[in-house]
Amino acid sequence: MKFEERYSCLPEDALPQEIVLLMGRGCFWKKCSFCDYHMDSGPDSVSVSLNNKVLKQVTGEFGRLVVLNSGSYFELPEETKKQVLEICRQRNICHLHMESHWLLREKTRVLKEKMDKEGICLHPRIGIETFDEQYREEIMLKGMGYNQAPSAIAEIYDECCLLFGMTGQSPEQFEKDMSTALKYFSRVYVNIFNDNSTAVKADPELIRWFTVHSLPKLQKDPRICVLMNNTDLGVGD
Ligand code: SF4
Repeated sequence: MKFEERYSCLPEDALPQEIVLLMGRGCFWKKCSFCDYHMDSGPDSVSVSLNNKVLKQVTGEFGRLVVLNSGSYFELPEETKKQVLEICRQRNICHLHMESHWLLREKTRVLKEKMDKEGICLHPRIGIETFDEQYREEIMLKGMGYNQAPSAIAEIYDECCLLFGMTGQSPEQFEKDMSTALKYFSRVYVNIFNDNSTAVKADPELIRWFTVHSLPKLQKDPRICVLMNNTDLGVGD
């Protein structure tokens, strides 16, 4: 990935923000059937200096920083996490968004408390993909387990990501997912599945349905961010 693909700033977003895509040690899970972006990883000897250069571009102008990496925030090197905190302090960033897997929820809760003491509001984001647990666990292999009430997930996570457009999904499932996500989470990211190097395939019919019937409505809601392509946030390749 090119260096310039690791920083972006979205002044027009409902939540104006800066975004950095950092390099970590790699997703601990790596089992999701649809995912190949956990490949953006490396040893600390490479990632610390890369992340350092990326973070130096953060100005703090919106007071809101989104830190992404291909996996969970906790897979970033310790030195990088310290630098993120330092940048937030120096640039008066009071809102920090990051992602973490459900199995790291306890660490996420502890980090939220720690950031709170620093005067930084942590907004954890989770890739739930769908609330249809059978599809999520058996087809997507997401590793969240069963009987996870959305209300319990939302006690720790403020934002969630849904994934739509894979073969085997349906408009009915998506509409249910959207209404559950909006009921419990302050912000919802809808990722439309693009074919990648995994064996999972996008369903063009479903994506057509989404574009015609769902997208125009979702675009009017500031709580929803639709990503038709993986690079729509201005980071990644
Ligand atoms: S948890 Fe995230 S990064 Fe890891 S395999 Fe699943 S989708 Fe990919």
